[in-house]
Amino acid sequence: MTGPTGDRTVIVGGGIIGIACAHYLAEAGHAVTVVDRATIGSGSSHGNLGFICPSRVLPMNEPSAIREGLASLFNRRAAFRVKPQLRLDLYRWMAEFARRCTHGRMIEAGRDLQPLLALSMQEYLELFEVLPSDTEWKHSGLAFAFRSPAALDGFVETDTLLTDTYGITASRIEAADLPAFDPALRDDLAGAFIYRGDGFVRPESLIQTWQSHLTDQGVEFWEDCPVADVHTENGRVVGLDTVRGELKADHYVFATGAWSPEFGSQLGCRIPIEPGKGYSVTMNRPSVCPTHPMLFPEHHIAMSPYADGYRIGSMMEFVGYDTSIPEHRITQLTESAAHYLKEPTGSETFETWYGWRPMTWDSLPIIGRSPGLDNAVLATGHNMLGIALAAGTGRLISELVSERPSGIDISAFSANRF
Ligand SMILES: Cc1cc2nc3c(=O)[nH]c(=O)nc-3n(C[C@H](O)[C@H](O)[C@H](O)COP(=O)(O)OP(=O)(O)OC[C@H]3O[C@@H](n4cnc5c(N)ncnc54)[C@H](O)[C@@H]3O)c2cc1C
Repeated sequence: MTGPTGDRTVIVGGGIIGIACAHYLAEAGHAVTVVDRATIGSGSSHGNLGFICPSRVLPMNEPSAIREGLASLFNRRAAFRVKPQLRLDLYRWMAEFARRCTHGRMIEAGRDLQPLLALSMQEYLELFEVLPSDTEWKHSGLAFAFRSPAALDGFVETDTLLTDTYGITASRIEAADLPAFDPALRDDLAGAFIYRGDGFVRPESLIQTWQSHLTDQGVEFWEDCPVADVHTENGRVVGLDTVRGELKADHYVFATGAWSPEFGSQLGCRIPIEPGKGYSVTMNRPSVCPTHPMLFPEHHIAMSPYADGYRIGSMMEFVGYDTSIPEHRITQLTESAAHYLKEPTGSETFETWYGWRPMTWDSLPIIGRSPGLDNAVLATGHNMLGIALAAGTGRLISELVSERPSGIDISAFSANRF
């Protein structure tokens, strides 16, 4: 079926980014097919924490990141861990990442990300009016809770930076007020901050609900269908090789997350993305279950409470495309949560999970035309914020493909920067 624009668009990759692109392209009248090597939403978009958080503008390229990275080389329990490997790509990535770990670059990256995070939240708020409520969206705020007074006071510096530089403000919650704020928190914590503009979804529910909404709108989803080859002619993509034969369209969107470097040479550009591996464990709700999603920065973990479940997640490992889920990492998640929560675990584990975040060395996504190919665009490299940035990214990709002016400046996200 061809849409009112007469254009057919294929999206390679059915994670949250591919789905969001499908939504806005279908809305603009394109006939859209999403093709995925596995099942829709089975990549990094599945078992993450689901924070939709316009407050999280600061990138991973912080001045302290290099120290933490070096310390992690000898510590397999470090939350931020680099495993020494014989891969030149990784060392080039690390060197480029380290070069950007300055205060100035951190502030600059935050300024680039902030409009996209804000656009995304605005788009989500409209979307949640249309989608059924099964996404479990809650505009709950996002809290940072601290055990030690020193860590709580230390966070004041970050909070002041966010307020002064980006106009993002939090409310501080003193220890005495914590029981009223969230009765699941332990009595011996120092306090918390909450960013009330943030919220969260259950990511797998959002994906399922959004996919079925799009199917009703005529979007096609092809699962278990890896794209093996990209055919180009005269500066255009003319077809994709799949197990179901050649797939042809007017426009092609590549939203393949951590797998994106596979397409670099075929698209004639560099896509320097490393998989940043994280883990989560999903359980049934403890009898005293938190009411807010929270981060616990001293132990580098985060937590989301859902209607019929409860998830703890974290870690950032640069270990290549490793698929294992070491038991000690899952234990580390639940043991860390015990420092903050009265009941850190449910009685039953539903799922242990790993995901590969698509990490760029400057913490910015890649949203733009593929250099040298007129009808191919890239929507990838969303780092730790793919859920938060998806709706805005989908809007921007639709504008780009339809050659309509963009609501925000996207030059910082161009693939030409590599
Ligand atoms: C522990 C953890 C917690 C996180 N928490 C949050 C959070 O709270 N908020 C937030 O915003 N982000 C969070 N993230 C990050 C977020 O999960 C990612 O940024 C996001 O999922 C990336 O989405 P994506 O669509 O680009 O990638 P993916 O979801 O990985 O999708 C890419 C898809 O492309 C497909 N594909 C790849 N190659 C091919 C091919 N050749 N042919 C066809 N299909 C192909 C894959 O099968 C996959 O389905 C977290 C990540 C982790 C690991």
